[in-house]
Amino acid sequence: MAIERTLSIIKPDAVAKNVIGQIYTRFENAGLKIVAAQYKQLTQAEAEGFYAVHKERPFFKDLVAFMISGPVMIQALEGENAVLKNRELMGATNPKEAAPGTIRADFAESIDANAVHGSDSLENAAIEIKYFFG
Ligand code: UDP
Repeated sequence: MAIERTLSIIKPDAVAKNVIGQIYTRFENAGLKIVAAQYKQLTQAEAEGFYAVHKERPFFKDLVAFMISGPVMIQALEGENAVLKNRELMGATNPKEAAPGTIRADFAESIDANAVHGSDSLENAAIEIKYFFG
């Protein structure tokens, strides 16, 4: 299996709940290494740029407002099959549909405030890691 890197963001709701450490433990227990990390308050321009693919979607404005509502923790994760592994740890976009034991099932409140972001493909992972870590 290939060693991959993927981008993860712990969103403002989960940062406010003080569960960064609990989420990091899940990454580590799954064999994912945190190889870069940045705690920051996103600007509106950064959040809009990051979610540019969703620009035309009805939830775009609310999504950007939520992502800048407080600090986020951004990390690059490295390990075997990192992209898919992280998506499995996260669970479905809507926490009501997320499998028990996933991050979103355990820490997220709603589809808007859903605790974590994770790259959905290897190609997007490279783009997203570059966006935040150069
Ligand atoms: N989102 C939302 N309402 C929706 C769909 C998505 O607020 O109806 C938000 C949600 O926070 C999600 C993000 O937009 O995490 C990006 O959507 P995507 O479909 O890429 O989901 P993800 O890859 O995060 O599971």
